Amino acid sequence: MQFLKNLFGSAKLDGAALAVSPDLKEYAQIALLAHFLTPQPLHDAALQSRWSRVLPRSYAETIALFEKQGWLEATPAGYQVTAVGRPFAEAYAQRAAREEADARQHVRDALAQMMTSEALTTRRQYENRTPLGKAAWTGPEPQMNHSAVTRRIFFLDNRLLDGLSPETVQWLKLYAAEQHLWGVHWTLDAGAIPAQVAAELARPDMPIEEAVYWRGYALSLYVDNQETWQRVKGGDHVRRLEIVGPDDEHTCEHCRTFLGKQFLVARVPELPHKECTSPRGCRCRYEPVLEAFEEIPLI
Ligand SMILES: [Zn+2]
Repeated sequence: MQFLKNLFGSAKLDGAALAVSPDLKEYAQIALLAHFLTPQPLHDAALQSRWSRVLPRSYAETIALFEKQGWLEATPAGYQVTAVGRPFAEAYAQRAAREEADARQHVRDALAQMMTSEALTTRRQYENRTPLGKAAWTGPEPQMNHSAVTRRIFFLDNRLLDGLSPETVQWLKLYAAEQHLWGVHWTLDAGAIPAQVAAELARPDMPIEEAVYWRGYALSLYVDNQETWQRVKGGDHVRRLEIVGPDDEHTCEHCRTFLGKQFLVARVPELPHKECTSPRGCRCRYEPVLEAFEEIPLI
C-alpha cells in the first residue's frame, strides 16, 4: 500500500483527524499549516530544519504535500491556506488556543497556592507539546532553579512594596510571579485590575495598566538580580558584574551613569538603584562578566 501511495504521488492526508490527533508528528503538520492562515513567507532555513525534525517528512516535502492536497497555495502575499485547508487549520488554531488557556489557568491556580514547582512543570509540559518545544509567546528556556527564583517573589519584603496594603501586595506578587514563571511580561486590560490595586498603584504620568506592569516587572527583575548576585558571589569563575539595562528616554540620569560599568562582585551597587527617578522604576540588571581565558589562573 505504501508503495502504491508513493507511486501515485503522495498520501491523501486526513486533515480533520490530524488536527485533533494526540500524536505530535501528526498534529505538527496541521500546526505548520495553521501558520499560513494569514499569508506568510516560508520559514527561514534554521526553523525549517527544526520543523523537519518533528514532521513525518521534511519541511519542503510537507509544503509540497500541502499544495498537492489543495490546502496551501503560493500567493503574491506569501503562502496561504486555501478554503479547503482552512477548516483543519482553524480547528488546530482553536485547539492551540484552548491548550494555552488551560496551561495559563493551571499555572495561575498553582501560583495562587505558591506551588511554583508544579507551575513550572505545567509550563514545561505545555511547551513540550508544542511542535518546536517552545511556544512563540513564552520566554527563554528556564533554568533548573527557575521555580525557586519565582518563589522568592512571594517572600519579598522590600521597599518596592512600601506603602501598599497587604491585599495589593498579594495581588501584585501573584501578577509578578505569573510573568516570571512564563519568562515574559504583558500588560493587563485595565478592567482586569482590581479597583483597590488600581487606586494604590495609579500614577499621573501613565495609564494604570502600564503603572501596574512596571511595578510587577520590578519584582520579577529584583529576584532575578538577587539570584545572579548570589550565584556569582560564592563562585570562582566570575569576579565582576556589569550593570546593563535599557538606555532610552525613560532612563534616569542616575541609572545612566552606571550603564555598562563593571564592578567587583563584592562592591557592586545594590539594585534597584535607590536614587532612580524613572517613572518605570530602575530597570538595571547584573550581567556576569566572563573572564578572558588567560585571566583565569591555572592550577
Ligand atoms: Zn537603575
